[in-house]
Amino acid sequence: MSLRPTIDFLLHDWLNVAGLQERERFADHNRETFDAVLDTCERIAREKYAPYNRLVDMEEPRFDGERVILPQATHEACRAYAESGMLSAAQDYEIGGMQLPYTVEAAANAFFAMASVSIGSGMLTTGNANLLMAHGTALQKQVFALNEFNGRFSGTMCLSEPQAGSSLSDVATRAVPDGPDHASDPLGPRYRLRGNKMWISSGEHELTENIIHLVLAKIPDTHGQLVPGVKGISLFIVPKKLVDTQGQLTGERNDVALAGLNHKCGWRGTTNTLLNFGEGKYPVRGEAGGGLDGAGSGAIGYLVGQPGEGLKCMFHMMNEARIGVGMAATMLGMAGYYASLDYARNRPQGRAMGVAGKNPASPQVRIIEHADIKRMLLAQKSYSEGALALALYCARLVDDQHTGKPADADEARLLLEVLTPIVKSFPSEWCLEANSLAIQIHGGYGYTRDFPVEQYWRDNRLNMIHEGTHGIQAMDLLGRKVLMENGQGLTLLASRMQGTIAKASAEWIAEARQLADAIQQVGSATQAAWQGAEPAQALANAVPYLQAFGHTVLAWIWLDVAQSAAGDDPAHVGRRAAARYFFRYELPKIGAWLQVVATRDPTCADVPEDAF
Ligand SMILES: Cc1cc2nc3c(=O)[nH]c(=O)nc-3n(C[C@H](O)[C@H](O)[C@H](O)COP(=O)(O)OP(=O)(O)OC[C@H]3O[C@@H](n4cnc5c(N)ncnc54)[C@H](O)[C@@H]3O)c2cc1C
Repeated sequence: MSLRPTIDFLLHDWLNVAGLQERERFADHNRETFDAVLDTCERIAREKYAPYNRLVDMEEPRFDGERVILPQATHEACRAYAESGMLSAAQDYEIGGMQLPYTVEAAANAFFAMASVSIGSGMLTTGNANLLMAHGTALQKQVFALNEFNGRFSGTMCLSEPQAGSSLSDVATRAVPDGPDHASDPLGPRYRLRGNKMWISSGEHELTENIIHLVLAKIPDTHGQLVPGVKGISLFIVPKKLVDTQGQLTGERNDVALAGLNHKCGWRGTTNTLLNFGEGKYPVRGEAGGGLDGAGSGAIGYLVGQPGEGLKCMFHMMNEARIGVGMAATMLGMAGYYASLDYARNRPQGRAMGVAGKNPASPQVRIIEHADIKRMLLAQKSYSEGALALALYCARLVDDQHTGKPADADEARLLLEVLTPIVKSFPSEWCLEANSLAIQIHGGYGYTRDFPVEQYWRDNRLNMIHEGTHGIQAMDLLGRKVLMENGQGLTLLASRMQGTIAKASAEWIAEARQLADAIQQVGSATQAAWQGAEPAQALANAVPYLQAFGHTVLAWIWLDVAQSAAGDDPAHVGRRAAARYFFRYELPKIGAWLQVVATRDPTCADVPEDAF
């Protein structure tokens, strides 16, 4: 079983990605150029990533007091990825990019996520550099972003702090102007930062010449007070090693110190760090810094964009970052599906029911012949392939937003607003469940480290936690996204779904009706949840709402995909079976989820703490 035919089917037969070449930006591309990118990524993932997935899990990153040590295989995989040009695939030709549609970039990166999600494919570096391309000065782009795209430097996103995870308004890292000439630094207004950043992925390693941290911090007011709330947050470039205006290392180590590595449940191939900024471990440029609060030391950082707009700049990247997280979760689900499918085809156990199986001397059947195993395989297939289709659909919306005609671009923007919590959260929850089913299919063997499925589950467990927890995504959906712009996003999404319902073939009429009913149920529950309610009441059951919304979106995606999967080709038969499974076994669950939403059921919210 290979991923490639599924990706090819979704990109070409379903999403008609070749149609993008009609847009000026993609005019040089065609099916051959897209295939060449996919071929290269598939090969690098197969040769440099997949064979080392278990190794990077067993050989966790370690700190020898000076350096963080990663397996040699990680160095080689990252080098091969950078050399493939994928870090700058979507960028303009003038700066060495391929002007590749994001849809194809996302599909190509799926191979790496499946082969070894934690060796990583530079998602943070690309996201960091893309942010600088959108909000940085010309020199910041030249010095930092371009050197990230070419693989010399890597990037991080430093938002979280020990006391500020979901609640970023409580960020306490301070940034003070660095001396009287701070505003005239060619690399951007120069500040001194002090504070701790927790959970920073790829925060320390020797994979690249330099690490470019993008750090959220607050600039104190004239009384030295931090502005409360997100409005006080600004964004800074804090390089691990200082550079000149040509991007060359100056030989000065910036005051960014590794306080410790976090030892994780999964995703162990990527370092995860607690970083101290400006604690004085690496004093830099003497004590000349003299900030407004009188202190001299601190990590040197350059302001990006305007003061107070840090979170806004970060949010610019959120759609793609969240599609990336959803894609990672999806590919882990897919990896478990393929592993358990292979196992089920080879493991003899038990006999057929009925007369044929009555003879204990008859040979055992392979477990794939049991209906319950097929149920677990179809569940995994419906979650993972459905989530992949949704991720590619959203990636296509990103392309439409950036290169479509103005009206189409605006529709894509609005749809992405509503779908982003789903593309992140559905795979995080249900492809994790898929991994659990993959373990179940392996029986006791699945619970050992002799098979890969337990690692997939551990790796996947992260995805409901980072990039906005499940609960935070749910509140974003019900509290903001379905209400924004007078509910236009929800209306637009419903109309896209109605379009699929209208074109459903005779074979799918019952499912089309079922979807129409689900849309109606989600719409009424949304209204009922907010009818005369305080936010605390309406949002108390936001997660069941997210689950019901996600299942409705996936039912729509499957109905649409099924229309492109007619005929006797076994792959199409499988797609239609997965679609049918989703309608019969999954979609009916939304009734229970929406019931507590619509009635604003207070069971959870009202239970007194001492009753636990
Ligand atoms: C492996 C890993 C990698 C990471 N990488 C990065 C990175 O590179 N950069 C970075 O900046 N961060 C990173 N993070 C941090 C991650 O984004 C945070 O862990 C996440 O935002 C949650 O914050 P927290 O851990 O402090 O949990 P908390 O915010 O304390 O949340 C704990 C629980 O409370 C719930 N909760 C919190 N607030 C509310 C509320 N208002 N209403 C209802 N429920 C609520 C949450 O949903 C969650 O279930 C990473 C985390 C991990 C584990």
